[in-house]
Amino acid sequence: MTDTYEHYIDGEWVPGEGPETFESENPATGGTLGEFHRGTPDDVDHAVAAAEDAFEEWRKLSRIERAAYLWDVYHELRDRTDELGEVVTKECGKEISEGKADVVEAAHMVEWAAGDARHPKGDIVPSEIPAKDAYMRRKPRGVTGCITPWNFPVAIPYWHMAIALVEGNTIVFKPAEQTPWCAQIIAEMFADAGLPDGVFNMVQGFGDAGNAIVENDAVKTVLFTGSAEVGHKIQDKLGGVPGKRAACEMGGKNAIVVTESADLDIAVHSAVMSSFKTTGQRCVSSERVIVHTDVYDEFKRRFVDVAESVAVGDPLDEDTFMGPLIEAEHVEKVTGYNELAREEDVTVLVDRTELDDDEVPDGHVDGHWAGPFVYEADAHADLRCTHEEVFGPHVALLEYDGDIEEAVAIQNDTDYGLAGAIIAEDYRQINYYRDNAELGLAYGNLPCIGAEVQLPFGGVKKSGNGYPSAREAIEAVTDRTAWTLNNSKGIRMAQGLSADIKTEY
Ligand code: ADP
Repeated sequence: MTDTYEHYIDGEWVPGEGPETFESENPATGGTLGEFHRGTPDDVDHAVAAAEDAFEEWRKLSRIERAAYLWDVYHELRDRTDELGEVVTKECGKEISEGKADVVEAAHMVEWAAGDARHPKGDIVPSEIPAKDAYMRRKPRGVTGCITPWNFPVAIPYWHMAIALVEGNTIVFKPAEQTPWCAQIIAEMFADAGLPDGVFNMVQGFGDAGNAIVENDAVKTVLFTGSAEVGHKIQDKLGGVPGKRAACEMGGKNAIVVTESADLDIAVHSAVMSSFKTTGQRCVSSERVIVHTDVYDEFKRRFVDVAESVAVGDPLDEDTFMGPLIEAEHVEKVTGYNELAREEDVTVLVDRTELDDDEVPDGHVDGHWAGPFVYEADAHADLRCTHEEVFGPHVALLEYDGDIEEAVAIQNDTDYGLAGAIIAEDYRQINYYRDNAELGLAYGNLPCIGAEVQLPFGGVKKSGNGYPSAREAIEAVTDRTAWTLNNSKGIRMAQGLSADIKTEY
């Protein structure tokens, strides 16, 4: 990539008002991938105005007509999966199978949304009065702001946008500042699909551009995925504002529970996948493993063995399990939490925070490397390291001695409630966990990562307030009308309410 890439506003590529540009960096090499114009709040306001203008015409189309544009995008995602998977890996550092899976997940989301356009919608609702037909209709809410993170740079934007578009909303997209190249390709796909001008707009940039979306009165819905810190700010700003809606998907301090009945092959496999895939940088990654004392020593030995040897390296190499962290500041944050854990007096079992020189692949010394950090801590201690989200390969082993109620109490001892898993052969333990773990996404005998698009996705407690995926996103981007039509010449009311008009004369 050589030029300075632009925003896409009202069907045009434009440099925007601001003088600043920023670079996309390959986190594995530190090399530059491209230069992008940095959007300003004014650019966002132009994009919102274009989306507002385009809304009336766009909403008049049928859902099936709107979905037709998305089928073009779907085929392009399918045809270009390998190429785009490499772009994802180069720009966000996920190993190559994850880079491709990101694009496949995007295709699945577009397929779901476009396919859903032909499905029956709404509810026919009975009325007490035989002459009344009652049913529920949905209307698009209008301009939808989509603010997305870097870790699923193709999939998450399509989670937000595919459904919002099919339902008749127009879009202002503010991608993560770490992955503008992926966003550029997404915008090119919408431009190629021939969406009417203004229906889809993208402004590249940072938090100030995201904030301008949140603060613009014409934006009716904000779909946000990212940190709890930013998500809660958005909720606080929009919570009490009439007519505004924010669906926010945030982080977690997720855990795997391994009971005394567990199959330890499944337990170790699931815990390693959950903790180290994407170098621990998924909102559903697990940073706690809660293990029953009867199986603790064996689990610990096996988990530590893998953590010592798991392949950290060039994410484009198919033999790599963990790529780099996203950026230098994030290495600092993860390193800081590893140091904090030591200060909080935990027992460190594996510390690959700084890789040995021979572990760093050739040509990658400027990458943002950090390997696994594993420690034992008291399950009941009020430690920051076992309660705050690190968003890296930082894992606490927490031993418990008691029944499933005890394990679930430890699992729930967090402000968050996104994802978790139980590894057990005893179905009573599994069912107790299913019914009592405070989670939006829960798994039995599986890793706690890898959700499919047709399931609800989202958390409880501090992890989220909406479900911005598949069916639930429809709730976020539409308003319902309960519609009742009288087929009689007379007016008859429900609940026995008199419809007689009584006069004095
Ligand atoms: P992460 O820690 O995954 O980078 P962030 O919450 O910082 O998560 O970023 C997620 C998205 O939110 C990015 O697109 C970012 O630019 C945007 N963002 C950051 N700060 C704000 C803000 N104050 N208002 C709106 N969006 C923001």
